Amino acid sequence: MNDILPEQSAAWQYLEDTLRTVVHSYGYREIRLPLLEMTELFKRSIGEVTDIVEKEMYTFEDRNGDSLTLRPEGTAGCVRACLEHGLLYNQVQRLWYTGPMFRHERPQKGRYRQFHQIGVEAFGMEGPDIDAEMVLMTARMWHALGLREVTLQLNSLGTVESRMAYRGALVDYLHGCESGLDADSRRRLSSNPLRILDSKNPDMQTIIENAPQLPDYLDAESRADFGEICAILDDAGVGYEVNPRLVRGLDYYTKTVFEWVTDRLGAQGTICAGGRYDGLVEYLGGRPTPGTGFALGLERMIALLEVHAIELPDSNPHVYLVLSGVQGIRRGMVFAGELRDAVSGLRLQVNCGDGSFKSQFKRADKSGAHYALVIGDDEAGQGSVALKPLRSDMEQEMLSQQMAAPRLRELLDI
Ligand code: ATP
Ligand code: MG
Repeated sequence: MNDILPEQSAAWQYLEDTLRTVVHSYGYREIRLPLLEMTELFKRSIGEVTDIVEKEMYTFEDRNGDSLTLRPEGTAGCVRACLEHGLLYNQVQRLWYTGPMFRHERPQKGRYRQFHQIGVEAFGMEGPDIDAEMVLMTARMWHALGLREVTLQLNSLGTVESRMAYRGALVDYLHGCESGLDADSRRRLSSNPLRILDSKNPDMQTIIENAPQLPDYLDAESRADFGEICAILDDAGVGYEVNPRLVRGLDYYTKTVFEWVTDRLGAQGTICAGGRYDGLVEYLGGRPTPGTGFALGLERMIALLEVHAIELPDSNPHVYLVLSGVQGIRRGMVFAGELRDAVSGLRLQVNCGDGSFKSQFKRADKSGAHYALVIGDDEAGQGSVALKPLRSDMEQEMLSQQMAAPRLRELLDI
């Protein structure tokens, strides 16, 4: 679990602002959800035989003896909230949320125990247009952030029926190579064999590569939907790779699934993952309702922004206000408020804690500000203020306090 320190938060804000602007441009609305849910919700929705439920959840009993869990992902809570508040009744929903998720994993680069996601979910639409919209929205996000080296992988898991047919073939094949299976996979062979394809164990990769392939077992409807998504992506100029071994880590996916991956982040290369989950709402007690969505991992996105050396917008103060003398400080505190009223978007840091001019200018410089304004007792009496550039060889200016706002707007172009 990481602290995000002030020098890192500018990158986080830039990332969050950019992504929020993109989701809003598609008409998605924010839903804010609790961090805790009943444990049962995750067991049901994610599935008992999954890494998350078997070994990654932070679960505890509260004072009433209820078993609660810190959310490991957002979809379950989002569906729970929609059902509880009747948001899925005869209507479609386009929703998004953001915040921390918790999984007790082995911490390593790109893998943490508290991490952050932006999640997007759409309900009530059978697709494939809405699935394509989801993928196009993620492509627009990378574009808005200036990220290029990311690859889209697509697959279709088919309907429940076609998955069953595939499952049979897969189990037959895996029985044939049982001696090569690791302990996890052997256990999953009877409970959840598809999950074996998702194994990260390097020793399992040859067996996985030679396994029968899901697309060969797809039903006609899933095949047609998948073709339609591919056609829309082709028309939009979004490239993709069909990866027949792409199965998602969670139990509830159906039909189209996708991941965005990069080879610039080492082993944890998936930055965004999603797909369709038509069975989930009904499974959690609602009426049959199609659903589709994705989540992207913000820590990995931040790492990718660093790798690409993406330039962040300046978040330092524009102006540092140097104050001295009793009258200077009193006038200055009020003047600062007047300036903030008059110059929208102004970032103005006022010197507090007094100090010599020399030490105040040192702080001004360290703040990253471009200009210092100075008010001492004399300026307070005269209604004037000195303007001093900190990062250019512009001459110092003496202004009336009323003229400071228009002059700053001009200099800062805000
Ligand atoms: P992985 O295969 O890397 O374990 P996952 O399939 O468990 O990922 P999802 O549950 O689909 O991941 O979550 C969506 C995204 O959230 C991932 O693609 C990744 O970017 C991010 N993510 C998941 N787990 C972590 C973690 N422990 N730390 C940081 N980011 C994570
Ligand atoms: Mg995982």
